[in-house]
Amino acid sequence: AITVGVLALQGGVVEHIALLNRASTSYPSTTFHFLEVRTPEQLSLCDALIIPGGESTTMAIVARRLGLLEPLREFVKINNRPVWGTCAGLVMLAEQASATKQGGQELIGGLDVRVLRNKFGTQVQSFVADLKLDFLGEGEGPFRGVFIRAPVVEEVINGNGSGNVKVLGTVKKPGEEADIVAVRQGNVFGTSFHPELTGDVRVHVWWLGNVVEALSQRRKERGLVVGS
Ligand code: GLN
Repeated sequence: AITVGVLALQGGVVEHIALLNRASTSYPSTTFHFLEVRTPEQLSLCDALIIPGGESTTMAIVARRLGLLEPLREFVKINNRPVWGTCAGLVMLAEQASATKQGGQELIGGLDVRVLRNKFGTQVQSFVADLKLDFLGEGEGPFRGVFIRAPVVEEVINGNGSGNVKVLGTVKKPGEEADIVAVRQGNVFGTSFHPELTGDVRVHVWWLGNVVEALSQRRKERGLVVGS
């Protein structure tokens, strides 16, 4: 069985769990458990994790208070578990976030990028846009991207050369430059938009597929080490 956690300190938790449940039917030979994560003990049960949308400053403060920030960093950067952040979750997974009025904020990191929070303005400037997400596979139609006080990836920073940040999606508003709204670097995936707020299960199906693959790879490697 595979246990996928959803960090449940704040934000869109139940929506992710609902879509994960639907997406899991695409992998009938795998048993999944979906777990709301609020403690380091719960995190330690997880094979993979989603960090939902919400408000990243709040999320960081609560994570710090619950003693979760270091375990989360370890989960992402040392244990290299598959992690997906949506919106505020993407902010948390960035190595840097552009300075805000409030000053710095604590991040988990894992993606060698700098994000710009609230790129498109306030809540009332929320919008939807059809995105071309090639990783969903050939012949797939556009994906409805929901953007709510969304961050964008401002710059790939790639300090250590182990980089390999892959841009997986962009959005272009009329008269503006295209913005990066989906990235992946190894085990870490981030989207500015909210697939969990659409009825469209494709991104969750794709991500769960990656989780299944990463875990079978990991178990194989472990088996080899034990057997040799
Ligand atoms: N603006 C929020 C932040 O910077 C993210 C908004 C969202 O997750 N919908 O943390």
